[in-house]
Amino acid sequence: MTTRTHILGFPRMGAHRELKFALEKHWRGETGHAALEAVGEALRARHWQAQRDAGLDFVTVGDFAFYDHVANHIQLLGCEPARFGFSGDEPELSRYFKMARGVEDEAGHVHDDSCNHGAEGTFALEMTKWFDTNYHYLVPEFDAATQFRLASTRLFDEVAQAQQAGHAVKAVLLGPLSFLYLGKEKAAGFDRFSLLESLLPVYEQVLGRLKQQGVEWVQIDEPILGLDLPEAWRNAFERVYWQIARNAPKLLLASYFSPLSENLRLACQLPVAGLHVDAVRAPQELTGVADWLPAHKVLSVGVVDGRNIWRTDVDVALGKLRPVAEKHQGELWIAPSCSLLHVPFSLAAETKLDTELKSWLAFAIEKLDELRVLRAAVEGNEASVAAELTAARVAVAARRASPRVHRADVALRLARSVAGDDRRASAFPQRQQLQRTRFALPALPTTTIGSFPQTAEIRAARAAFKRGELDAPGYRGKMRAEIALAVRKQEELGIDVLVHGEAERNDMVEYFGEQLDGFAFTANGWVQSYGSRCVKPPVIFGDVARPAPMTVEWTAYAQSLTKLPMKGMLTGPVTILQWSFVRDDQPRATTCEQIAWAIRDEVVDLEGAGIGIIQIDEPAIREGLPLRRAGWPAYLKAATRAFRISASGVRDQTQIHTHMCYSEFNDILPEIAAMDADVITIETSRSDMELLRGFGGEGGFRYPNEIGPGVYDIHSPRVPSVDEIVRLMRKAAQVVPGENLWINPDCGLKTRGWPETEAALSNMVAAAKLLRGEL
Ligand code: GLN
Ligand code: ZN
Repeated sequence: MTTRTHILGFPRMGAHRELKFALEKHWRGETGHAALEAVGEALRARHWQAQRDAGLDFVTVGDFAFYDHVANHIQLLGCEPARFGFSGDEPELSRYFKMARGVEDEAGHVHDDSCNHGAEGTFALEMTKWFDTNYHYLVPEFDAATQFRLASTRLFDEVAQAQQAGHAVKAVLLGPLSFLYLGKEKAAGFDRFSLLESLLPVYEQVLGRLKQQGVEWVQIDEPILGLDLPEAWRNAFERVYWQIARNAPKLLLASYFSPLSENLRLACQLPVAGLHVDAVRAPQELTGVADWLPAHKVLSVGVVDGRNIWRTDVDVALGKLRPVAEKHQGELWIAPSCSLLHVPFSLAAETKLDTELKSWLAFAIEKLDELRVLRAAVEGNEASVAAELTAARVAVAARRASPRVHRADVALRLARSVAGDDRRASAFPQRQQLQRTRFALPALPTTTIGSFPQTAEIRAARAAFKRGELDAPGYRGKMRAEIALAVRKQEELGIDVLVHGEAERNDMVEYFGEQLDGFAFTANGWVQSYGSRCVKPPVIFGDVARPAPMTVEWTAYAQSLTKLPMKGMLTGPVTILQWSFVRDDQPRATTCEQIAWAIRDEVVDLEGAGIGIIQIDEPAIREGLPLRRAGWPAYLKAATRAFRISASGVRDQTQIHTHMCYSEFNDILPEIAAMDADVITIETSRSDMELLRGFGGEGGFRYPNEIGPGVYDIHSPRVPSVDEIVRLMRKAAQVVPGENLWINPDCGLKTRGWPETEAALSNMVAAAKLLRGEL
């Protein structure tokens, strides 16, 4: 029986984020297309060589993109939206970046979806999260006029490049059903599914051309097989694959991120030569797949976690692979669970992590080598990789037993928690009374979401402090001055509930992670978020606890400067979890609960320091939802409980706020309500307050507590007029009782400048004053 190794995709940015810097240079106009193409070519060559060096049977071609692989498919399949008005002679790469980044008008303003754009400027393609990752893809746009044609040779050129370098090539394509499904209709009443028939001939052409090039295997990704699909889409799979597989190279159909569930048999029986499954996210399905997959097909088993940074437990992986190897007659391919796009490049560049912690991790390059070792072991050649197997086992055992990972005090705290720990003492109506008496706020109180402009000076001071060029007292003095400035400005503006402005925070998760036990930070653990933008998520490696207060000093200082209530500002447990690499040796819910207790300690300490209003931000609640609905109840139960644990250590008179943005909540409103925050602030201005209708009971559930619907978009410097805010709040008051409404911006103001911030907030306060007698 033959075994082979391969990957589904590799990170694009390069060991030192070369692609990022090359892109940004190009966008600044400092380099032309040829120079950028050369960087891409060099990166691909290096990344293929790394795959070859690790003994993979193929290099994967077609995973590279200058911005996003879905955008590459838009050009390959010739469906660039007509609204860009591209002329035939405009170079492919310049059209590509226009779609990705928008077109500036004469005033230098890139329009977004909400603007009333003129002929000059055009907004970029919308960006949305790639399944449940933090990678964002560009959303294809479809309408009745959409046509497809084979319109780019980029993929074939890349294949030729790899072949010239002497590599055996497996090309990768996003499958036609996933490509269509992930796009969006741009006309009411139009169904993008109706485009399927016209799309398939182009896929046939693409596959035919790859075959002509001598490509033996094409990996065709259909990750939507892991979603709850409408019947029509499910039913289309068989006929689609009959059609496109006819004259194609051998197809390896790949699904990942989520269980196949009701699509398992369908996936096994499609007329393709092989199937890849995610045995990290859905190990329970492996037996079923081995049963259902016809004996002549290739089975690719994703046993190395492509979504996380932990070194593979070789015995767990072999425990998945060996039974399949016994049972399945056809070839067995060993792979990461999904593309390695979602993990950093290599541990080699890690200077910040200690050696022990490093020995527990594997980034993309290290994962390639894990495949080599697993393959040898599955083939019965353990002896040839004895040293590697031992090293892996020693590291995994050390991690499992490490006192850095497991802390008795943290375990005890969770074990001792009792039923009432996640409940406030009294129900909301009683708390509301007590809080009204305590704060005596005017009707429609005004507040902001937390951050104020992060000026160049603030960033310079933080960076100097990190580099050791500014000492602690110097840094403290600078931050205090910023806090004082923010307090003074808010008082002058007439805001009712103030914030300290978050000047000391680089990032809302990193700031807390750096002060909590159980977190580590990499020097180079960059992962692509979108385009040239990369993020460096914290690594949660051990039990989480809070050794000392994290925000109390800054907040108490801010409170000392004013008689008005100062709102404390924290990031919630779900958001901290969601934006980090999370340990894989215990359920996510357990890690989340540990963070919740640490945040609760901070909430209690803030209360003790005289802070009466505390906001716990949870913008990531919604994005944590599992891809399949079946997983929603358990997730929501754990997430809302974690939030309540963090919020419930305080007296009834202490007012808890939460904040959420970027999302729709209408399908999870009862759960949002179950968080039981006294006040929730949400992003509503871009939907023209439509989002609030759900909170008002439109869908059958009325949100019971107080709400601050955002009255202006913080993503642009545009200053909203008083009239505009008045209009939005009147609309809000039609669905939510006026006595439960607050007035605030959509989100934090850290990306804004002071002039527009002051102008906007001044109009916001004026609008509140106008409306007070009325609503
Ligand atoms: N308190 C944070 C801020 O104002 C909230 C950010 C967010 O919701 N993304 O910046
Ligand atoms: Zn926000």
